[in-house]
Amino acid sequence: MIKTDVIVIGAGAAGLFCATEAGKRGRNVIVFDHAKRLGGKILMSGGGRCNFTNMYTSHENFLSQNPHFCKSALSQYTQWDFISLVNEYGIKHHEKTLGQLFCDDTAKDIVDMLLAECKKAQVDIKNRTEIIDIEFVDNRYIVNTSQGAFSSESLVIATGGLSMPKLGATPFGYRIAEQFGIPIIPTKAALVPFTLHEHDKAVIGELSGISVDASASCNNTSFNENILFTHRGLSGPAVLQISSFWEPGQEVEFDLFPNGDLVQDLLEQQQSSPEIQLSTALTRHYSKRFVQAAIPYFELENKPLKQYNPKQLQSAAEAFTQWHVKPNGTEGYRTAEVTLGGVDTDYVSSKNMQVKNQEGLFFIGEVLDVTGWLGGYNFQWAWSSGWVAGQVV
Ligand SMILES: Cc1cc2nc3c(=O)[nH]c(=O)nc-3n(C[C@H](O)[C@H](O)[C@H](O)COP(=O)(O)OP(=O)(O)OC[C@H]3O[C@@H](n4cnc5c(N)ncnc54)[C@H](O)[C@@H]3O)c2cc1C
Repeated sequence: MIKTDVIVIGAGAAGLFCATEAGKRGRNVIVFDHAKRLGGKILMSGGGRCNFTNMYTSHENFLSQNPHFCKSALSQYTQWDFISLVNEYGIKHHEKTLGQLFCDDTAKDIVDMLLAECKKAQVDIKNRTEIIDIEFVDNRYIVNTSQGAFSSESLVIATGGLSMPKLGATPFGYRIAEQFGIPIIPTKAALVPFTLHEHDKAVIGELSGISVDASASCNNTSFNENILFTHRGLSGPAVLQISSFWEPGQEVEFDLFPNGDLVQDLLEQQQSSPEIQLSTALTRHYSKRFVQAAIPYFELENKPLKQYNPKQLQSAAEAFTQWHVKPNGTEGYRTAEVTLGGVDTDYVSSKNMQVKNQEGLFFIGEVLDVTGWLGGYNFQWAWSSGWVAGQVV
């Protein structure tokens, strides 16, 4: 049996970050992962450029049964701390939109930085390792693996959620929580595209590839970004964001003219250009392809603007500004960016992620019931939760 101070299971964002911090304190750290390639999710993230944090990160950008849980870790290790580290490594980056910071070149810069930090802190990373089981004997954690048995004082579970099984996601962390008597808040795919019922899909499929500015609303929450029509349904930032708030069977309302007043606009166009058709008036704001599909889909008549009375013009505008869609479902964990729910935070210290009644056991990152919005918040949670655990493991 090989003895060490700290074992981390999961060499993703949170696990590597925690291991580095513990290693810097002089702790002997071994990280296990079953994946062949390290940092797979980071490499795929942000379209290959990794949206590694958000300048405006606050606890309000996270969903959890306990919305206060994430506050302490986020304030102990902030987005500015991570940005300083990125700067130390000379990784060029830019703000894309809404405080979202992306690498200029490639997400590999972030993986290389994490691996360099691990190397500096003498962290031993063992990938391609299957974890068989975990025992707790004489106040030590025994981890039986495909590479033999290891024991440690501290055990950190950083195996993430269920999203993207092809990148190595498993329910391992939830099983370990249950083994130690910790409940799991029911999980659900989040930041995920919607699939549609056949009648919507028939029209929307034709719009595949088009994106429009929109505000998406559901359950008293709205996001104003853009939506993307796909051959399967609806995607794009506003859709991914609202998917985390949506429950099956509910409608989502889209305002496809979120930054102005479409009724007013059409009334003004009616005054200035009474002869133009509704479709022409709408192509001042939308692509021709979109308007051609939208008019029949919304069952609107297409005639010169002068032939509409104000009420008719208003209802034409409202078809675009109050578009109600009842998604058929979501694309599920296969394409979801994150998993909502997870290890119940009531059982975990918000200061350092240690399980309250189980000394030496820690849960960090996405495996916990803390889920960020789209926009770099999920990585910031991985860094912050990993960092605070790294100070005490
Ligand atoms: C396509 C995609 C794009 C994303 N883009 C962004 C983005 O730009 N910005 C952002 O903030 N967030 C993004 N996210 C979310 C973000 O990647 C995650 O929230 C974050 O990686 C969670 O970190 P983690 O360390 O908790 O888990 P993970 O990064 O998922 O790491 C978990 C690790 O545990 C390992 N593991 C799992 N089960 C086992 C097991 N049984 N045995 C051994 N090892 C195991 C896995 O192989 C993996 O390496 C994206 C997610 C996806 C899927």
